[in-house]
Amino acid sequence: MHEVLWQSGAVTLTNWAGNTAFTASRIHHPTSLDELRSLVAAARRVRALGSGHSFNDVADSPGELVRLDRMPPLIEIDGAAARVRVGAATTYARLAPELHARGFALANLASLPHISVAGSVATGTHGSGVGNPSLSAAVRGLELVTADGSMVTLERGHDDFPGAVVALGALGVVSALTLDLVPAFELRQYVREGVPDDAPFDEVMADGYSVSLFTDYRDTRAWIKTRGEPPGDDWHGTRPADGPRHPVPGMPAESCTVQLGVPGPWHERLPHFRADAPPSSAGDELQSEWLLERSHAAAALRELRAAGDRIRPVLQISEVRTVAADDLWLSPSYGRDSVAFHFTWVKNPEAVLPVIKLVEDVLAPFDPRPHWGKLFTRRPAVPDRFRELVRRYDPDGTFGNTFTRTLLDT
Ligand SMILES: Cc1cc2nc3c(=O)[nH]c(=O)nc-3n(C[C@H](O)[C@H](O)[C@H](O)COP(=O)(O)OP(=O)(O)OC[C@H]3O[C@@H](n4cnc5c(N)ncnc54)[C@H](O)[C@@H]3O)c2cc1C
Repeated sequence: MHEVLWQSGAVTLTNWAGNTAFTASRIHHPTSLDELRSLVAAARRVRALGSGHSFNDVADSPGELVRLDRMPPLIEIDGAAARVRVGAATTYARLAPELHARGFALANLASLPHISVAGSVATGTHGSGVGNPSLSAAVRGLELVTADGSMVTLERGHDDFPGAVVALGALGVVSALTLDLVPAFELRQYVREGVPDDAPFDEVMADGYSVSLFTDYRDTRAWIKTRGEPPGDDWHGTRPADGPRHPVPGMPAESCTVQLGVPGPWHERLPHFRADAPPSSAGDELQSEWLLERSHAAAALRELRAAGDRIRPVLQISEVRTVAADDLWLSPSYGRDSVAFHFTWVKNPEAVLPVIKLVEDVLAPFDPRPHWGKLFTRRPAVPDRFRELVRRYDPDGTFGNTFTRTLLDT
């Protein structure tokens, strides 16, 4: 739906879910790097918009927005160095099949491939897997247009790099990124039902390349994406699903990637949702997510189950994943192997807001960090070195917006 909105000057520009109306006065679609640089240099306030899948106003601008979806396509694979240089607005749906055709893969993907690489990386987007860090951790280089229109290239190893990858668009407009590649691989996906509350969390989550639990804090199902053995017949006392399943109970599974153990390429199994169908509840939803140190998983699950009667009335489904630690300052999994508690809410902000606060209260003892692209109310701590980086790269606040000003207290 939002694609129509992007193209029409007459209607309000919203995010994908339609719960946030952008306040920016103009949206530009530059068609060359030179045009992008001139636009940025001339703008008093400007910010990049990716594919618009965030649920809050992190991508909004009090001035202008640039969307790089009409820039020349860029997917440059360097097989010898196992890396790809990719245009910022490229979606994983567009990138992944090209990598696969050349025998390469990304180590992990999010639940949907429809999102842009730059937007995903800027918010610390992640999938699951005890050995898999966030998608941002695959970045080895960034090409950045800064406020005066000049280009800065940052490579892994540069002092500013760990602050510049997950940067919420606050340092400039990323025009291209270089990502690590791994050899292409196959996966099989299985859904198991009736996961008992006392199933050993660490064992369950380590029983596949990527494992997700979908729960309403009463009934729990597991999505197991494995490169090795299928789950045994009585895997943790569960039963195999007798057909394909959608993560939201009762929704038809046509939009989901192939399950039932049929082998397939990494990019058609790692996401839960197919590239050619609307993901999740097709935008009839709100989302929140918090990441905690993984060792708190069992205790946090117990507390959330205890609050289940108050959570369920506004919950479509919750997803529990694991994310390996990275070293990116603003990444929600910075410096700690994490468990991520995701919530797909009903699309009723008034009813959902008090429950978001309740979940924040329940998780508070576990030092939660919110997903930057989803809904939260408690302001997370931001390291001073990131504030210093923003001051240095963007001294006049060209890329600032309400979200970053509130966050950085500027
Ligand atoms: C149905 C659904 C499922 C989801 N599943 C997952 C999931 O599995 N895992 C997960 O972690 N998250 C998930 N998300 C959240 C999503 O990954 C994030 O919101 C992500 O930021 C979306 O990317 P985007 O391109 O839409 O970014 P946008 O929302 O457009 O922008 C996000 C941020 O990136 C910045 N940005 C965008 N492009 C650039 C650029 N070129 N240069 C500089 N900054 C830029 C923006 O300014 C903004 O600050 C899901 C969201 C939806 C709607």
